[in-house]
Amino acid sequence: MPGAGRAHLRPVADGEGNPLDFGLRDLVGASAQTLQRARGIRTVGQLLDWLPRTYLDPTRPTAFRDLPHGEDVVVVGTVRAATTHQMRNRRGRRLVVDVADDAGGTMQLTFFKPYGHQDRLRPGVRVVCSGQVGVWRDTLQLTHPDYATLSEGGEGGAQWLLDGLVPVYTATKGLSPIVHGQCLDLVFHQLDELPDPVPAQVRRQVGLPGLLEAYRLVHRPGTEADHRRGRWRLKFGEAFTVQAQLARVRRSSEAVPARPRVPAEQGLGQRLRDRLPFALTEGQEAVLAELLGDLAREVPMHRLLQGEVGSGKTVLALLAMLAVVDSGGQAALLAPTEVLAAQHHRSISQLLGPIAEAGLLGGLEEGTRLALLTGSQSAGERKQALLAAASGEAGIVVGTHALIQQHVQFAELGLVVVDEQHRFGVEQRDALRAKAPGGTSPHVLVMTATPIPRTVAMTVYGDMKISTLRELPGGRRPISSHVVDGRRPDWVRRTWQRVAEEVRGGGQVYVVCPRIGDPDDPDLPGSGTDGPGLPLGGEVGPGAPQGEDGADLLGLLEMPEGSAGPPGLHGVHQVARCLRELPATRDLRIEVLHGRMPAEAKDAVMQAFAAGRVEVLVSTTVIEVGVDVPDATTMVLLDADRFGISQLHQLRGRVGRGGRPGLALLVTQGDGVDPAAIERLEQVAATTDGFELARIDLESRREGDVLGASQSGGRSGLRFLRLARDEDLIVQAHEAAWRTVESDPELSRHPELADALTRLDATSAAFLERG
Ligand code: ADP
Ligand code: MG
Repeated sequence: MPGAGRAHLRPVADGEGNPLDFGLRDLVGASAQTLQRARGIRTVGQLLDWLPRTYLDPTRPTAFRDLPHGEDVVVVGTVRAATTHQMRNRRGRRLVVDVADDAGGTMQLTFFKPYGHQDRLRPGVRVVCSGQVGVWRDTLQLTHPDYATLSEGGEGGAQWLLDGLVPVYTATKGLSPIVHGQCLDLVFHQLDELPDPVPAQVRRQVGLPGLLEAYRLVHRPGTEADHRRGRWRLKFGEAFTVQAQLARVRRSSEAVPARPRVPAEQGLGQRLRDRLPFALTEGQEAVLAELLGDLAREVPMHRLLQGEVGSGKTVLALLAMLAVVDSGGQAALLAPTEVLAAQHHRSISQLLGPIAEAGLLGGLEEGTRLALLTGSQSAGERKQALLAAASGEAGIVVGTHALIQQHVQFAELGLVVVDEQHRFGVEQRDALRAKAPGGTSPHVLVMTATPIPRTVAMTVYGDMKISTLRELPGGRRPISSHVVDGRRPDWVRRTWQRVAEEVRGGGQVYVVCPRIGDPDDPDLPGSGTDGPGLPLGGEVGPGAPQGEDGADLLGLLEMPEGSAGPPGLHGVHQVARCLRELPATRDLRIEVLHGRMPAEAKDAVMQAFAAGRVEVLVSTTVIEVGVDVPDATTMVLLDADRFGISQLHQLRGRVGRGGRPGLALLVTQGDGVDPAAIERLEQVAATTDGFELARIDLESRREGDVLGASQSGGRSGLRFLRLARDEDLIVQAHEAAWRTVESDPELSRHPELADALTRLDATSAAFLERG
């Protein structure tokens, strides 16, 4: 219990710095240690940020019979009797108070040190108690509860049990609710004010309480409406601060001007459009206008282009790049992997044709050149590409992200296109500036195929402008998806037959596995003597009954029963070996692809697949982004329950790209699949709307994951906001924050906001600075 009386405490309002950072010792005395030990709470801010889990209304208490055992509760009842008992095995007496609620339920309060309790807990007195519900000899019990009698007006210090709603916090071992409550009361009693990052003007406009008032409303609400208002305000303050930070990041990225890039009237862009075998869709035209509009300004473009795989982003990026080439600059296209860089290089040179063959026989005289720079090139190729970039001969340079980190010289880098949501931090931006003409920044376009819900886009990519392609062009057929229950041998068998049928019909198939596995494994797990599966050689070899094959495959790939750890996940090597032996699939041309293969090997396999020389590609998720093989019609995803919603959607986007209908078969693991995972799969199978799936995904994830904190190992930095639910609020905060920063870029008139921005923890600052 907080020992110090209020009179002895120093007021803290005149202390140095932000009261949220104050240690608790001066304010709550010895309980500070309890808070730290029980919950790691050291500062006023940490105490205030630990919000109630729920609220109880003492005027509508829980009936005793509904009380959840073992949980902390607040109850209201009337004392029926109070008796003291001599304890049997110990010295001393025990006070037992029988309490009844209005529904006629009864429970007991027990005190091992009766002290003055007996005087206060007389029959007929109404009492509010908080404690942990236990059961003793079939009777509900609160042992040494904290209580206040309604007639005495809060004696015992638990005033908050009597005023309005009773806050309930997550039960914490070693911290009694009453001590916690008293600490809060002491803090509130001594705080006069908290610096508020939300300016008074914004608070007035939006109708928000001040920060301290908001904490009061949340911790000491009179009504439901109070704590809602308080919470809304805390969220708003958080969203506002984050948005202000983003606005400043945007401003700083715009501080160094860019060279405006305007496409020539009959320039290369027009040449490309003349060559395209299709017309741009309306959506593409609109986005292109946005891109060209940005490029024409002296402010560097800083834009995110989102659209599903196959929505036609690449061709737009190419037109933007040509606008830059037209105006005498160069463009770099950065891909996340060598495979994708090589693929981009191939498809771009195809699209450009003679436009990218300036100086070559048959090339367009006023055209440009295309260079590819990857780590796996021969020294000679590399040297040539570097030269082409440095001399300006290559208008477009394609490479991996290493392109900008390494000492690659450009004659005049005007635009960087980043494919697939690479995290693009401050250092990269600096590196880019070094490659742009003196005193300017290149324009930056980031492309992503992952549909991003609006609130995430505003929060994570909020410093960028966003363009969205919503439709798939060119009569693309939607992919149909089915969940295959991995425990049903007939379904699994059918899956492999289906694969064979697809190939016979001229299609190609991806089989995606969650892991690589070991190429040198002597054989499949389960094929040994102790495994549950069938020996592969005997039963599934030549002459094995057709009907049995596929089912065995999954069975064989399970880890031997009784082995430690979860059931084995399918590995690329094992699955490929199996498919090469199964009667249904053994005549197919099967290859493996995974991230640990040398780059040339990967590239060779990808090219063979793209050229149709490989019919079944067994791979890990390296094929996840951007790979484009028009004849790939089918994807089998093994252990699909191990993948996230967005990832599944991304993966299946690889098939059905050539005008033929696509098919995705989501095969679950055998036993022990989480029902929630099955539900996820059903949702993925039920819709092809990437934005809808992104929304579902967002709801099922924790904020930290959304913001990528899991990768950086830190906290998300968001305390109150729920991106899945707080859209309106985030939009309002965004508008208010951007207006504020625009009117006062240095925040000299908003010192509290400036201070709050420096307080955003380093992790969140890091993620906010991507892009
Ligand atoms: P993304 O980069 O968004 O995955 P791409 O730009 O690679 O999409 O386009 C996918 C395929 O669709 C490519 O073969 C491209 O040439 C083609 N394509 C792009 N725009 C159109 C369009 N308007 N009409 C028909 N086909 C298009
Ligand atoms: Mg693409």
